[in-house]
Amino acid sequence: MSLQTCPTCSGAGAVQNVKTGHGQQCPACAGNGIVSGGFDDQDFWYPINPPQLTANQVGVNSTVTVDNDADFLCDRFIASSTGLFSVTLTDKFRSRPFSPNTAINGENFAGTAQLPLWLPNPFVIRRNAVILGVFNDRSGAPNTVQFCLVGRKLI
Ligand SMILES: [Zn+2]
Repeated sequence: MSLQTCPTCSGAGAVQNVKTGHGQQCPACAGNGIVSGGFDDQDFWYPINPPQLTANQVGVNSTVTVDNDADFLCDRFIASSTGLFSVTLTDKFRSRPFSPNTAINGENFAGTAQLPLWLPNPFVIRRNAVILGVFNDRSGAPNTVQFCLVGRKLI
């Protein structure tokens, strides 16, 4: 990972909010003052591929493990499915779920490759971390789901 001074805040880690006139944490670097240069980072897709859900099946666990060669900066959720589904996503490494103990409908949680859900707060998933998805069918028919965590390896 090559690092560079954050161009948004010039490394200060804070910017002025033009609405309030007050300082706030820099949204581009999350207050770190540095960002990845990006030129040697590798775009990467980590897919969660649960077995085909049967009609109205709930609680189907499926995981993906981040490779051990690099931490992963996830900045997009992309999913495809043959029917409606819902999912609860958890970063097992930090035991941190992405929702309360409630599944989120797929259409509220992920976009398409062409119109991804860009995360307002891209987050780092550590190498070897396991991301768990618990999937539920909402279509009443067999449902093939792929849920992709998309971003870049911080090499
Ligand atoms: Zn910044």
